[in-house]
Amino acid sequence: GLSTHHWYIARFIMTGAMAQRRVKAAVIGAGMSGLVAARELRREGHHVVVFEKGNEVGGTWVYDPRIESDPSGLDPAREVIHSSMYKSLRVNLPRPIMGFSDYPFDAKPGVGDDPRPFPGHEAVLRFLQGFAADSGVVELVRFGHEVVRIERAVEGRNDEWVVEWRTRDGEASAEVFEAVVVCNGKFTEPRLAEFPGRTTWRGEQIHSHNYRVPKPYKDKIVVIIGNGPSGIDIAKDVLLAAKEVHLASRETTTFKIHGGLFQHSPIDHAEEDGKIVFQDGSSIYVDAIIHCSGYKYHFPFLKTNEIVNVDDNCVAPLYQHVFPPALAPWLSFIAIPYRTITFLLSELQSRWVAKILSGKIQLPSKEDMTSSVQEYYQRIEAVGWPKRHTHRLQLEKFDYENWLVGELGLPPLEKWRQNMYFTSFDLLTTFDENGRDTWDVEKWMKGEEGGGGGSDN
Ligand code: FAD
Repeated sequence: GLSTHHWYIARFIMTGAMAQRRVKAAVIGAGMSGLVAARELRREGHHVVVFEKGNEVGGTWVYDPRIESDPSGLDPAREVIHSSMYKSLRVNLPRPIMGFSDYPFDAKPGVGDDPRPFPGHEAVLRFLQGFAADSGVVELVRFGHEVVRIERAVEGRNDEWVVEWRTRDGEASAEVFEAVVVCNGKFTEPRLAEFPGRTTWRGEQIHSHNYRVPKPYKDKIVVIIGNGPSGIDIAKDVLLAAKEVHLASRETTTFKIHGGLFQHSPIDHAEEDGKIVFQDGSSIYVDAIIHCSGYKYHFPFLKTNEIVNVDDNCVAPLYQHVFPPALAPWLSFIAIPYRTITFLLSELQSRWVAKILSGKIQLPSKEDMTSSVQEYYQRIEAVGWPKRHTHRLQLEKFDYENWLVGELGLPPLEKWRQNMYFTSFDLLTTFDENGRDTWDVEKWMKGEEGGGGGSDN
C-alpha cells in the first residue's frame, strides 16, 4: 500500500475551484455501518481500508449458533462472539426503511429470498453482501483483522493514528492512518440487570446476546428482564417452548397474546432456593432468567488518553454523536445513536464524515463544538432523561436526522419514513403477533396512510 507520507503529498487535489482533501482512512468493522461508511468515504475520493475481525461482511446479521463460554457475558476473558442474532429473528423495521438511499432493500423473488415486508434476518445479510459486492466495498475489506489498538502516533498530533491489528494466526501489525472511523457495533457487550441475590441465585442466567433458540427452555419457567424490542421478541420466542414466561419490567406492555405470559414489576430480589420476588410483592420459583437489559458501548481498542470516554453508557464528549471535538475530524463514530432508522442514520452520518474530511463541509470551531455538546447534555437533563439515554434519539421527532440532511444539503426526509418508523416501533413493543404480516407497507409509502405512530419512546 501507499505510505502515509505519500498520502500527505497527494492529499490536496484541485476539483474546479475547490481544494478537496483526500485522506487515508481506516474504517473499523464491516457491518452495515462500516460498509456504507467505506462507500461514502471512497465516493469522496478518500483512500479506505476496512478492518473486519470476522470472515465476512454483515456484522450483527451474520448469525452464529455458538454462545459464549459465560452466557451472562461477564467474564472478561471469554471469547467474544460478535452477533446477538437469534435464529427466529425477523426484522423490526419494514424493507422500505432498511435499505440505502440508492440501494433499496427490495425483495428478490426467485433467488430464494424471503419476500415479506418484514423478512427473516437471512435476507438482511444477503442484502448487505449484495451491497458490499455491487459497491465494490468488499474489495477494501481486510478480513480476519481484529483491531486491537488505535492511538495517536504522536500525542498532540491528531491526524496520525496508529491502527494495530491481530490476524487469526496471531500475527500483529500496525499502520498509520490520518483518519479513523469507528463502526464496531453497539450490540455485543452485555449489560446485566442487577438485583440483590443475583450472584447466588441457583438458576440459569443468560444475557439476550447469547439467546439463540427456545429449545433449552422446554417446559421451564422463565423470567425475561426488560420489555424493549429484544425482551418482547425473545419472550414470544421462548413461549414456544417454555411452560411460563414472566416479563419483569418498569413499564407494562400491551398484550395481544394469551396463555403462559405474565407481566410483573422489576425483580426486587432473588432467593437461593430459586424464588424470585418482584417489587410488587409477588413471587415465583423460576428455572431461568434471560437478561434483555441492553448493551454497553465498548471500544476496547481505543486509546485516546481520556479524551473520549464511555461513562454511564454515554460516549463523551461527541459533537452531534460523531466527533470528539478535540480530535475532529480525524476520529469519528458511526451509529452511536439509537431509536431511529438505523440504515438511514449510518448513511447520513457517513456521508457527513466523508464530506467533512474532504473539506466540502466545515465543522464549527473546537470551542463551539464543545459548547454545543454541553447544551445538548443540558437539554437531555432538562427533560429528565438519565445520562445513559444521551444517545437515544426522538427527543424531538427526527430532528437529528433532519439536521444531518440539512448539513448535506439534501431534501427533507419524507414524512412516510418517519411515520413508518414510529408505527413499526409501536408494533414491536405491543406483542401484536400478526402486525408485521397484515400491515400494508406499500400503501404507506404512497402516503395513503399517515399520522401514524403514537409514542416515540
Ligand atoms: P455491526 O453489525 O455490529 O457490525 C460491526 C462490525 O465490526 C462487525 O462485523 C464486527 O465483527 C466488527 N468489529 C467489531 N470490533 C472489531 C475490531 N476490534 N476489529 C475489527 N472488526 C471489528 N436494525 C434494523 O434496522 N432493523 C432490524 O430489524 C434490526 N434488528 C436487530 C436485531 C438484533 C438482535 C440486533 C442486535 C440489532 C438489530 N438491528 C436492527 C440494529 C443493527 O445493529 C443494525 O441494523 C446494524 O446491523 C448495525 O450495523 P453496524 O455496522 O453499526 O454494527
